[in-house]
Amino acid sequence: MPAYDFDLFVVGGGSGGVRAARMAAQRGVRVALAEAAGTDGLGGTCVNVGCIPKKLYSYAAHYSEAFEESHGFGWEGAAPTLNWATLKARRKKEITRLNGIYLQLLTNTGVQVINGFATLVDANTVAVNGQTHSAQHILIATGGTPHVPNMHGRELVLTSNDMFDLDPFPARLLVVGGGYIACEFASIFNGLGSKVTQLYRGAQVLRGFDDEVRHFIAAEMVKAGVDLHLGASVRALERTAQGLEVKLEDGSMQVVDAVLYATGRVPNVQGLGLEAVGVVQGKEGAVVVNDDYQTNVPSIYALGDVTARIQLTPVALGEAMVLVDHLFGPQVGKAKRGMSYQFIPTAVFTHPNIGTGGYTEIEARKKFGNVTIFRSEFKALKHTLSGSTERTLMKLVVQDATDRVVGLHMVGPDAGEIVQGFAVAMKAGATKAVFDSTIGIHPTVAEEFVTMREPVGK
Ligand code: FAD
Ligand code: NDP
Repeated sequence: MPAYDFDLFVVGGGSGGVRAARMAAQRGVRVALAEAAGTDGLGGTCVNVGCIPKKLYSYAAHYSEAFEESHGFGWEGAAPTLNWATLKARRKKEITRLNGIYLQLLTNTGVQVINGFATLVDANTVAVNGQTHSAQHILIATGGTPHVPNMHGRELVLTSNDMFDLDPFPARLLVVGGGYIACEFASIFNGLGSKVTQLYRGAQVLRGFDDEVRHFIAAEMVKAGVDLHLGASVRALERTAQGLEVKLEDGSMQVVDAVLYATGRVPNVQGLGLEAVGVVQGKEGAVVVNDDYQTNVPSIYALGDVTARIQLTPVALGEAMVLVDHLFGPQVGKAKRGMSYQFIPTAVFTHPNIGTGGYTEIEARKKFGNVTIFRSEFKALKHTLSGSTERTLMKLVVQDATDRVVGLHMVGPDAGEIVQGFAVAMKAGATKAVFDSTIGIHPTVAEEFVTMREPVGK
């Protein structure tokens, strides 16, 4: 008789939790997974209120510029108008389909899926819906949740979770924040037809990204129609007959139909029982783990957003696979996986997109000393006819001592798609000489990365 009900009990059915449960079950061990939102919530943030619906709405929003630009290529006739209800319904249907696929993936591999909010009882016991389950290992993969700062009128604001099913469509939208979500949603709702105002408290949006990228995307977003206010903060909000009146710290006022606060996310640990079991937590309750995703309680592990490190789906997926190899061994015939946090590429689905990999110019100078910068800014071929004034930025940061490309940054259409390929080269340690010896694909925007010959002044 096994001592525990399960070998692994996973708390949370998001990106990291589902991947860990599925991969562990494939190794033949007994796995349970509890999801608070039920089977309709399988896939977690990414599938339900994150990456996937966000990208679908971003595709929808890109059509408005495509309709406009098509006239430059000879297309005639008035632009179609957006039916918001249709978009919402079609998104919902697709997400429901994905929830079903996730459930199928889990049940097909033998994972026992439990609908309900899980609480830790002790180092080897979890309670769900009043029933306890024992497990040799417990994995906390409960993700994160939006954080809204305290202010007068806080109850009137929306978070990214609310944006996908908004009713009615907000003709005037105020977005607060300057990170990924604020910039993406400002771009998306601008493209969908809202009059968007974005407020950011600092000097430039997207802190942490390469400075040139930050300035460039801000200028492009403004050109596209986003009314961006830097160094701006909200003092209070109030609902009036005209809409939501938002008073700013500088004394000015905005009247809008909806206010989105995209001011960061905090780990989802409320009510989980971590304190009772003695799991050490860091800032905002983040679960503290070692290199093997193990907490200070040896049988309890954590990964993904709840550890508040790099909050990206592919990172949670990567961590899950490494943990499963660590706990139950690698797949037959495969080597044990490792996780490297260096050169993780990322994209911001602003309009135009940002794609980036490796170090910013400033970080690279600090880490590597002398670096050489290659930079190209241009109007893409498409826009010679489209009439759009959109410009593209591409930038390489090269370490002088090794000639290695240690930073690659782009603002332009499909930057995420382009940078994903270059990320492999960067990870493999490609030098600028290798980039130079690579034949371009003509005519593309991406070929610029292998044809930049002249460095910018040091
Ligand atoms: P989650 O996916 O959040 O899953 C956690 C799950 O745990 C949830 O389903 C939750 O209901 C459940 N849960 C919580 N507490 C309990 C409990 N006590 N018992 C049972 N279940 C519980 N990343 C990208 O890489 N690309 C993108 O384009 C991108 N876009 C994003 C857009 C938005 C608007 C947001 C908010 C995020 C986006 N992200 C994106 C980030 C990405 O969604 C997260 O990094 C990823 O989902 C983290 O996975 P996770 O498994 O850690 O947590
Ligand atoms: P971010 O941490 O990216 O940005 C938060 C923003 O809110 C920052 O501009 C921050 O300003 C600002 N802010 C924080 N607190 C306050 C406050 N009290 N008042 C006013 N402004 C404030 O968080 P997001 O919520 O945008 O996204 C969370 C994470 O989700 C991202 O970091 C990313 O990892 C992931 N994500 C990934 C996406 C992708 O891969 N495309 C898309 C969306 C999310 P400051 O910089 O000054 O601190």
